[in-house]
Amino acid sequence: MPARPLIDLHAHSTASDGTLGPAELVRAAADAGLDVVAITDHDTTAGWAAAVDALPAGLSLVRGAELSCRWQGAEPALPLHLLAYLFDPEHPELVAELARVRQAREVRGERIVELLRADGIDVSWTQIMAAADGGTVGRPHIAAALIRAGLVATTTEAFGPQWLGQRYRLPKEDTDVFRAVALVRAAGGVPVFAHPRASRRGRIVPDSLIAELAEAGLAGLEADHEDHTPEEAEYVRQLAADLGLLVTGSSDFHGSHKTVRLGAHTTAVEAYERIVAAASGVTGVASG
Ligand code: AMP
Ligand code: FE
Ligand code: FE
Ligand code: ZN
Repeated sequence: MPARPLIDLHAHSTASDGTLGPAELVRAAADAGLDVVAITDHDTTAGWAAAVDALPAGLSLVRGAELSCRWQGAEPALPLHLLAYLFDPEHPELVAELARVRQAREVRGERIVELLRADGIDVSWTQIMAAADGGTVGRPHIAAALIRAGLVATTTEAFGPQWLGQRYRLPKEDTDVFRAVALVRAAGGVPVFAHPRASRRGRIVPDSLIAELAEAGLAGLEADHEDHTPEEAEYVRQLAADLGLLVTGSSDFHGSHKTVRLGAHTTAVEAYERIVAAASGVTGVASG
């Protein structure tokens, strides 16, 4: 690995709401000049095997996931995302919880489509599920259907308040965030709070929660992310320093569902090495 490797620890494939397959994702990561990439699909490890099989020479792969969580300390409960790295993908309780969340996403997605149809908007749940092709289904798949129907021009527009951002938004049955941290640790993995200050996405959690999560086993905070302003990223870096947490930076690449490029934000090698050292699951870093 070079002295200053390019490390991007947050990327999605068609196993959830990205638009590149896992094999295409690792090839795109190599083409982007990355030395390390993490595959972090929402609530699934389904893309891992294909990504490992297609790993180009010289690229290292961190197998991970982005867990849909909620904090019950706000009313209504506040949704948040927990990145989990290098955990045992066969840990029974974690496997069961991921399956439960994916199933709940399907129930919720179908209900969103029912709300749209009740307003005369012609989108089909069957077609949306077919397009998701077995991947974890989410609002980006419904956004794609709205685009196909010519109702909106872009994913960003589909996430506006008139559409999936508010009017047709329903909550998911997410995992309690303290339970998620405990499960990831129990599976030997390393939990990192994704985009914790992204106020443009909606409500954000108080620092007191992040301090409690740090006590409960949270390992790090994602600071450099396209949904953070430079001030928000700096705030996260300071909070992490205060709490003894590591700091990551990542693209949160979703293919053409978003405009951000692989490697747009990166993680320092020291933080990456702390993540690898903290992992005790059976899943080490895979190298191509
Ligand atoms: P869901 O998990 O079904 O609630 O959908 C959330 C996902 O939608 C996130 O993981 C992002 O990939 C995507 N997303 C959220 N907000 C936006 C936005 N404003 N523009 C594009 N994609 C978004
Ligand atoms: Fe996503
Ligand atoms: Fe996220
Ligand atoms: Zn993500």
